[in-house]
Amino acid sequence: MEFCETAYRSVVARIDAARRNAGRADAVRLLAVSKTQPAAAVAALHRAGQRAFGENYVQEALAKQRELAPLDAGATAIEWHLIGPLQSNKCREAARHFDWLQSLDRAKLVEPLSRHRPPGRAPLNVLVQVNVDDEASKSGCRPDEVAALAAAVAAQPGLRLRGLMAIPAPAREPARRREAFRRMRALYDAVRTAHADVDTLSIGMSDDFELAIAEGATMVRVGTALFGPRRPVTARS
Ligand SMILES: *Cc1c(COP(=O)(O)O)cnc(C)c1O
Repeated sequence: MEFCETAYRSVVARIDAARRNAGRADAVRLLAVSKTQPAAAVAALHRAGQRAFGENYVQEALAKQRELAPLDAGATAIEWHLIGPLQSNKCREAARHFDWLQSLDRAKLVEPLSRHRPPGRAPLNVLVQVNVDDEASKSGCRPDEVAALAAAVAAQPGLRLRGLMAIPAPAREPARRREAFRRMRALYDAVRTAHADVDTLSIGMSDDFELAIAEGATMVRVGTALFGPRRPVTARS
């Protein structure tokens, strides 16, 4: 677990340098993407001070949550983000076991997510995922659907619209990624004008988080650069 902590310090420093280089005074949050990594790796980063973790698969996340229950409480509670594609039959578990859903991409999930959010818990924080490069194989709504989907989320008592998320197509040339990030920034500014709670633009991963920060990311989702390569998977759903 030594590696994790060294990598963590380095990623945190790189985020801060990118933010300062961009002349930004606001904070950029780090989401540690722990999919396929064991609970022990999450615990190691948690000891180093990280609190927000992202998982792609509901069942895999629930297994880790059970293992980590002793440290996932009170002042050291983990903020769990679901960042993988969401099937409609998983809305209930997503609403009950996560603090954030970053992958909302269709209207029919909105009402069930709100209905299943347990009373007494804060509303589920939601990012609308945008298929910013219009890839046939990718999840995410079309850019022209963002406004309506954002309004639908904002209207639900069990949900709190926080912003937008995207996974741009892998592009060799940084210029093409930059273009995708700029399109996301423009969509984000429009949503923020319409909805007061919106404060999160989740773009940038291990390969390109510095570029994303230069283009206005407020949250970067980093897996490989923190944990090393992904592991063979046992439980997913
Ligand atoms: C896996 C994943 C990441 C992290 O990717 P890395 O390249 O390992 O940093 C970020 N976002 C989403 C949605 C992912 O599925």
